Amino acid sequence: MFTSSHTTKSTTPSTSSWTVGNHTVRRIDEVVLPARTGPWLLPGATTDLVSRTPWLSPEFADEQGVLRLASHSFAVEVDGMRVLVDTGIGNGKRRANPAWHNLNSDYEARLRAAGFAPESVDLVVLTHLHADHVGWNTRAQGDAWVPTFPNARYIASRTEWDYWAGVDMEEARRQMFRDSVHPVREAGLLDLIDVAEEGTDVAPGIRLLPTPGHTPGQVAVELNSRGETALVTGDSIHHPVQMAHPELCSCVDVAPELAARTRNRVLGSLAGTSTLLLGSHFPAPTAGHVLREDGGYRLVPAPSGVTPIGG
Ligand SMILES: [Zn+2]
Repeated sequence: MFTSSHTTKSTTPSTSSWTVGNHTVRRIDEVVLPARTGPWLLPGATTDLVSRTPWLSPEFADEQGVLRLASHSFAVEVDGMRVLVDTGIGNGKRRANPAWHNLNSDYEARLRAAGFAPESVDLVVLTHLHADHVGWNTRAQGDAWVPTFPNARYIASRTEWDYWAGVDMEEARRQMFRDSVHPVREAGLLDLIDVAEEGTDVAPGIRLLPTPGHTPGQVAVELNSRGETALVTGDSIHHPVQMAHPELCSCVDVAPELAARTRNRVLGSLAGTSTLLLGSHFPAPTAGHVLREDGGYRLVPAPSGVTPIGG
């Protein structure tokens, strides 16, 4: 039976979690994104098309065929190392997207309650350098933005860094780098990783896999323990509708055709395996296994344990 903080009416704070070998992966919720996000982000996923994929409803789309999307991080302890994958939108950031602008969520309190106090985090993995994945890299301190995780190494793909360094960025993107990326780099906390085609280990049981297209250096994050495997998508797959229709691209993909090829490759490699797929923007139930269906793929949700906060 599936239960999660999303559907549980209980007032007891809790966080959804999944077991991968010895690891417990926890979803740290930031915000549910507004209903207008889906039609903007995935314009090809019309309500007609979504309604023709009944397994998406009610968890991943509403009865009208409007997609549900969320912002969250995944937190996992690996052999005593405390790892966070992506850092969401962040609080108090000046953003062009109204859903991201000047957010005031209790993400940091949820992180603490899940046992991941910011000062205890050892490694922050950034799947790519977009505003909704780097926001909690920093927090406001007076007029300044300071690293939220002062004792962590932050890592991103060198390909990703080099791409943005070579682009004539619009002001909104420059702002994002100023408030959420440069403070971490200036504090000496950012490591750029050369990600090999077959993947690169960044810690025991944590491997970055290149999944380019959405951005050139976008990575998926593979977690391995005791023969069990999970894969955090980053934005290689924004929403489960792209499993049924891997050709559907987001409006913010840098290279849409490459993104679709990557999606097909990732889904094809996972189909029929025991690997748990963890969606970086998938609303609850968020995780599952991949099956082939009707020339595409389907997500079969995996039971999530509800880990009491502080437990
Ligand atoms: Zn994103």
